Amino acid sequence: MTPTGTNGSGGEDVQRGSSGPSNATDPEVWRAYWASVADSGRRRQVDLAAADPLGRWLVAEAPVLVEDHDIDPQDLHVDPDAAFAAAREGFEALVADRDLPDHGDDRYGYESLPVHLTAVGRVDSGTFALRDPVADANTLVTLDGATVVGDASRRQEAAVLTYRCPRGHETPVCQPLLRTWSVETCGEADCDRDVVPDDARTRPRTVARFTVDGPDGALPCVAVGRYAVDEFDRLAAADRIHLTGVVRLLVDANGELEPTCEVVAAEPVAP
Ligand SMILES: [Zn+2]
Repeated sequence: MTPTGTNGSGGEDVQRGSSGPSNATDPEVWRAYWASVADSGRRRQVDLAAADPLGRWLVAEAPVLVEDHDIDPQDLHVDPDAAFAAAREGFEALVADRDLPDHGDDRYGYESLPVHLTAVGRVDSGTFALRDPVADANTLVTLDGATVVGDASRRQEAAVLTYRCPRGHETPVCQPLLRTWSVETCGEADCDRDVVPDDARTRPRTVARFTVDGPDGALPCVAVGRYAVDEFDRLAAADRIHLTGVVRLLVDANGELEPTCEVVAAEPVAP
């Protein structure tokens, strides 16, 4: 925890203390980080992600977040979902600030934009090591040099489903990676009519799947963004990979847990 936000997070966060938000979950800190990315040689990445949040992605470098933006690696480890939510919120603010070309009139926003966090192991490798998929679930973890088991695959899946009520309201539902969510009633304020899916508004994304040898045996992995698009062929050809991700505990029909890793970053180990 840092007593004050530095690095462009403004002067209004003097209240930050032990009970306040950490830099890892502060959208202002992330906005400053994405601004620095946009002002560097990686401007194109920012423009592409702004215009196509389901087809593109953002890459954040953990050592830069830690060293230049006072983000505590422990906070990333403990609550990655809060950190990534702040990362997306900060990015959305940057898109608005700079009036970047965005994704048009679609209402799905940046909720499903993949944020890849690279070089996590370099900032605090001990903290992040995956030891037990169940005990370490929902935290940000790494597996160094995990053996890839079997073949990788990829396909198009729904990233956003849209439901429509008889009055014409649209209710977009961003899909989590490992489940399909649906709604029964309209999401518009003051409207509770039944809805039906509007298939013409389904928004796809590319999803890759592969399996690695984890601490408890085979660990299925699911990846979107860079690792399902640009880097898929490299990953599919790799025998071993450095993996950063968040393990979710899926439950099968018998109530049995199926730990599954949502990939945050993956890098083939050089042979
Ligand atoms: Zn409605």
